[in-house]
Amino acid sequence: MKLQLKCEKCKQNFNKSVAAAFEEYKVGYVVCNECKKKNSRYISESDLLMYFVCSATLYTLAVVAIYLLLNLLGSVNVFIIYGIIAFLFVGMFFLSKYICYYIYVMAPFKKEWKDKQLDEDAAGIAKRMRWQFIMFLLVALMFGSQPNLIIYCFVLLVAFIAVVGIKVNLCLRNEKAQLNIKSTK
Ligand SMILES: [Zn+2]
Repeated sequence: MKLQLKCEKCKQNFNKSVAAAFEEYKVGYVVCNECKKKNSRYISESDLLMYFVCSATLYTLAVVAIYLLLNLLGSVNVFIIYGIIAFLFVGMFFLSKYICYYIYVMAPFKKEWKDKQLDEDAAGIAKRMRWQFIMFLLVALMFGSQPNLIIYCFVLLVAFIAVVGIKVNLCLRNEKAQLNIKSTK
């Protein structure tokens, strides 16, 4: 898949506009930064939740990787460890951008209604998503900083991701019901 997204109206780079919409948890049509026009793809709550599940999984893997690095490579020069951690974060930064472009273009599980507008409480969704993110960070930080609790941390994070995964499923079903889309399966 191409990483270079273009605005449908002015053909300028559209990546920044898409990434900002996902990172700020904005439901609705993405407005181009350049020409200020709306594009046809509608970002709904299920898109945002899918993005959340993917990035939460990514963060969890990073936490585990960092934990293993600090423990297994304890005798290695700290600068090398910090270098690897920095590299990991840069990689995660690009990967999470890629995930939102992917969801935007491919609209996984919701191809049939990716351009359809839904009746959603945009402010409420943004608020819930932000809280969800804060809770996730708190769990990761609280337990991640206690090496003896790392297993609980891992289990909790996986449970957290599973719960949001269930939310994605429910949300997709609601959107389908709202638009009266018959299941194709
Ligand atoms: Zn434009």
